[in-house]
Parts: sequence; C-alpha cells; structure tokens
Amino acid sequence: MAPTPTERSVTRIVQGQATSDGAGVRLFRVIGGQTLPELDPFLLLDEFVSDDPDDYIGGFPEHPHRGFETVTYMLAGRMRHGDNQGNSGLLQPGSVQWMTAGRGILHSEMPEQENGLMWGFQLWVNLPARSKMTAPRYQDIPPADIPSVTTPAGNPMKVIAGAFHGVSGPVQGIEAEPVYVDLELGAGARETLSLPSTHNAFVYCYQGAVTVGDADPTLIGHRRLAVLSGGPEVSLSAGNDGAKVIVVAGKPFNEPVARYGPFVMNTREELMQAVDDLRNGRF
Ligand code: MN
Repeated sequence: MAPTPTERSVTRIVQGQATSDGAGVRLFRVIGGQTLPELDPFLLLDEFVSDDPDDYIGGFPEHPHRGFETVTYMLAGRMRHGDNQGNSGLLQPGSVQWMTAGRGILHSEMPEQENGLMWGFQLWVNLPARSKMTAPRYQDIPPADIPSVTTPAGNPMKVIAGAFHGVSGPVQGIEAEPVYVDLELGAGARETLSLPSTHNAFVYCYQGAVTVGDADPTLIGHRRLAVLSGGPEVSLSAGNDGAKVIVVAGKPFNEPVARYGPFVMNTREELMQAVDDLRNGRF
C-alpha cells in the first residue's frame, strides 16, 4: 500500500525507565527522563503499577508545583489528594484529576490502601508563558463522567479529553487543547483515530502490543511509547494478544522551557523567583 499523506507514522520509540519518586514510589518514567526529556507540550509521563505495597505506600508527601498542569488517571487503586488551600479528593479507579497548578500549590498524593494493585498514569502538561501564573484550578472527574464509547470500528474507548464521533471528554478549557483517550483493542482489532494535524501526539502501550501505521507499520511493545509524526489521523492494530493504549495529543507552545524539579517556567529568573516564593510562604 502506498503511504497516504494523512497518516501519522512513528518517528521514535521510547521505553519507560524504572525509577522512583515521591517517598520511594517505584514507577516507569516514559517522558521526562534522559531518553525523552519532553515532547512539547508534555513534560512528563509516569506509569505507576505494582501490587506490592512497598512500591507505593510512601506516596507523594507534600510538595509544590508551579507553571504547568498535572494529570492523574487511575486504572486501579485509590489515592488521597490534599492541598494547602483546603482542597481534597479521592482518586479512585477510572477517575481523572486534571490539576492546573498555575502560580502554585503545595499538595500531597497519598495511597488510600495498604495492599492491592495501584495502577495509573501521571502526565505533566505545560502552560504557555501567559498562563503560568494563573490561579490554581482542579477538574476532578469521577469515572461515571468519563464517556465510554464503542468506536465505529467496534473498540471500547474512554474519552478523557477531545472529541470523537460526537462524544466530548469532560476535561475542558485547557490551553494545550488536549486529546486523551484510553483505547482497548481486542485480538486482531483495528482502529483509526483523528487527531488535530499540528498537535504533537504519542501512543503509549500499557498492555499487549500494538502496530502503529498502515503503510509504514511499526510494532510498539509493552511499556513503550511511540512518538508520532504530524498528520490528521493515526491507525492502530492489535495482534492475537490484543492491546491497551493511551493516545494523547497536545498543541505545542514552542516556548523556552526552564525546569527545576516541580517548577516549570520560561526563564532561570522565574525559577529563582519560584524557589524564593516557596521559601517565603507565598504558595
Ligand atoms: Mn504532585
């Protein structure tokens, strides 16, 4: 088959690297490590998955964020969220928390279980310079508010952000105009998804293996991320074992990124200001 100009292909494959963060939580870092420091507007992607409480029980005690958004999507397990402005909530299986840190919050993310499986993703999405100091905002989305659709090709898909086949995800008003779906492909299933042509996009395979592209197919194995070329759609297909993937796209900001731990600004001076503001209780 001749390549079609409409199809996105794989430009790069990245494997999640085992590491730990917070108070010893073991996880796989896919974006935000040495291999793929960022994929504008995405700054970090972690998959945390373990049924050994030693791997997650320490949680993420109080820490700051400024200048971007953190997105937590839970597949299994429960995490309790609380911040220094009195907000709190329970992240339960199938829920999403889209937190716009903006000018700054201090928060904690702690397991609300002593055993059993903890499984989910945290994605960091940048804010453009004009919005880095915006007021903090939460979109806490329970599982029932995330549409589960069957695509015309017959595949189950949860739409967290973006619009597909007349269904819109509940996350709204985000600067990066994100698309975020969780797609399940049964044995031999195929799917074609439309994505905004100029958005940067990736496919992350969290179960099984998936082939990306029809004309120039690339097999993406378990716990691997495919960075996609530009274009209006992406084709996916599963082998005999099926696959589960998240497909995420966002508008690149093309701005300088200055990063220091939980602060992501545009300049070194803004980072120093963030450190000073934190030290002096201005978060
Ligand atoms: Mn955090």
